[in-house]
Amino acid sequence: MSDAMNTAEINPTENLFNPVSLWEKSSEVLKDKLDPSIYSTWIEPLNFNVVDNSNSSENSDDAKTTFELVASSKFGRDQIKKNYAEMITSALIEVIGNDKFDLNFNFSNTPQILTQKFHKPIHHTQSNLQNSKVINIRTSADERLNKFAIQSNLNPNYIFSNFVVGPCNLFAFTISQKVSEEMGTLYNPLFLYGGVGLGKTHLASAIGNVALKKGKRGLFTSAEHFLNELVVALRDRKTDKFREKYRSVDFLIIDDVQFLCKKDFAQEEVFHTFNHLYQNNKQIVITSDRIPQELVGLEDRLKTRFACGLSVDLQKPDLETRIAILMEKAEVEKISLPQEVAQYLAQQIDSNVRELEGALNRLKAMSSVNNAPITMDLAINSLGQILCYRPKAATVLSIQEASAQYFKVSIQDILGKRRTSNIALARQVAMYLCRNLTPKSFPDIGSSFGDRDHSTVIHACKTIEAKISADNGFAADVNRIKTLLSNE
Ligand code: ADP
Ligand code: MG
Repeated sequence: MSDAMNTAEINPTENLFNPVSLWEKSSEVLKDKLDPSIYSTWIEPLNFNVVDNSNSSENSDDAKTTFELVASSKFGRDQIKKNYAEMITSALIEVIGNDKFDLNFNFSNTPQILTQKFHKPIHHTQSNLQNSKVINIRTSADERLNKFAIQSNLNPNYIFSNFVVGPCNLFAFTISQKVSEEMGTLYNPLFLYGGVGLGKTHLASAIGNVALKKGKRGLFTSAEHFLNELVVALRDRKTDKFREKYRSVDFLIIDDVQFLCKKDFAQEEVFHTFNHLYQNNKQIVITSDRIPQELVGLEDRLKTRFACGLSVDLQKPDLETRIAILMEKAEVEKISLPQEVAQYLAQQIDSNVRELEGALNRLKAMSSVNNAPITMDLAINSLGQILCYRPKAATVLSIQEASAQYFKVSIQDILGKRRTSNIALARQVAMYLCRNLTPKSFPDIGSSFGDRDHSTVIHACKTIEAKISADNGFAADVNRIKTLLSNE
């Protein structure tokens, strides 16, 4: 112990090879030179290692040390290598005092798996993932080519290789790839859920596109399309054909299954289709905006079936992933997008990927109309217009206020215990709107309403939904409250 300390004191160079202090010092040099947002996006998340060269055959005096910088994604690694390698190297030289080292850039997204939320029986999966160190992010682009592609209804552009992976979706991505490799047996059904525009349809389709390429036959259908086709089949007395179509496949993808809520006859059909495929080990992939248990208006027997495989969520992308998505889209569409503009767009738009794409498309259009390259000025100008028209996101509090105002009661009434009919209605409508306009779960909503149980919230949502379907006047009331909210 004391020896080690002495060495450190006597020989400062030795101390520098303590990776922690070496990297801390170098980071400080970089921090001075870089814009703070660039520093925090690209440099701060890096892990720094000194690679153990002790087994190397080169053992001469001037053998070089090898340092390794590890980014959390392949994209991050590539960006750092391209844009900041030189700067990092000179920072290291400045701190060490010589250039006797090699610097490697790597990436590892494995540890982020631990940060993902998930549901249901998954423990063995997690350890499988931890063991598989390298996750193959790029897959062959000719996933696209396939003879069953047209009948399958799959979008050939939604493939794994153009899906940008970050901590928000790594788990869903990895599981989806595994499902595409081992259909029907591993995770069946796979239930992908999450907010709008976060990549559910893209990932579900990517699974299908891989399967098609392997010669499997399958179908992609939105729940809405399924229902419409069923209505036509019933009308034309062709249900046998309809059933044959959906039950003879190797895999079935049902997109946006929340659409089936309260559509009982369609649920019945999905139930039998599901059972048939499941019993025959055919893969089922379902997407939804929420977990099965929270699909109000869906039969319990379907909820249990949907939840019996693996449910995985997609979350909002973080800043680095948003930048990566923009750069990837720009590359595919051959848009020359400066790094600082990507950074700016990604900072301003944090809701979902669809909005990011919209902003990029708008920028592309403006640049071609003006016949000018994409610059920061153009981005600020174009985005300013988009942001003005964005409806404000409702919060639990703003909903409670709007509902209280509309029904002429107070917030205390809404949060309190009194149950006079006006108060109870204002409270139930507010709960219903929270469920529909915010990403909050039933238990979260319950606790924001004077610590009520989640079952009370579920009951409120059911009651209000029933009232809306039965009473047009009431439906208009609810819409007026929504307008109050968006005009705030
Ligand atoms: P959802 O079905 O969850 O509403 P989509 O799958 O339709 O979302 O995604 C919306 C758009 O964003 C699509 O064009 C999709 O290709 C794109 N997208 C979403 N996530 C990613 C991602 N991680 N990488 C690249 N593109 C993405
Ligand atoms: Mg979708």
